[in-house]
Amino acid sequence: MENDKGLIIVLSGFSGAGKGTIMKHLLKSHPSEYHLSISATTRKKRPGEQEGREYFFKSKEEFQSMIDNDELLEYASFNDRSYGTPKSYVEELINDGKDVILEIEVQGALQVKEKFPEALLLFVTPPSAAVLKERLLGRGTEEPEVVAQRMAISSKESYLMDNYDYLIINDMLDDSVSKVHNIIQCEHARTTRNGDSIKKMQEELKEFSKGE
Ligand code: 5GP
Repeated sequence: MENDKGLIIVLSGFSGAGKGTIMKHLLKSHPSEYHLSISATTRKKRPGEQEGREYFFKSKEEFQSMIDNDELLEYASFNDRSYGTPKSYVEELINDGKDVILEIEVQGALQVKEKFPEALLLFVTPPSAAVLKERLLGRGTEEPEVVAQRMAISSKESYLMDNYDYLIINDMLDDSVSKVHNIIQCEHARTTRNGDSIKKMQEELKEFSKGE
């Protein structure tokens, strides 16, 4: 039986929790099942990043005009940068029955939940705060004060975790990837997401049982 619509899946998590890595592995292991939403941002392109692959890089004016023209499904600004999800691509995919994943932070995730209450919200954490700190320090790319800043942001974000549907405690990467995949597949089986299939079955049965 076909599901009615594709799912909007939001994946958030603390900086350093490993959500980017989970996403990459998920898309690699299920390339035809999941589609990644590419965000627009006003931040500068980092070395190795490509226009339209990691982000659509915009000027502040261009980003503002996307807001004004209601082209963004959600957006958030922090550290003097803005990030937003272009609406049309996501809507096209879900209307086509395809699943789309948005890797976005908490403010944006809550906006998505408000507009699309049926969206599936997943939050990735490391097993403990100590592990998070270790991972951030282990990257070796951040100064200790940046790590401290990230930990403070994570502390604030942790109070919004219970707005999410599922918690992914990212200890072993492969387990986390399987867990995300399994949760999404289970969500597809919910009766509330299968209204058309239920109706179709009811009509077919009614037809078959006529006159019996
Ligand atoms: P970065 O600049 O390191 O690529 O991303 C910084 C943060 O912005 C990450 O937490 C990422 O999840 C978040 N982000 C990326 N795209 C979007 C978006 O379209 N909307 C929102 N709200 N956050 C985003």
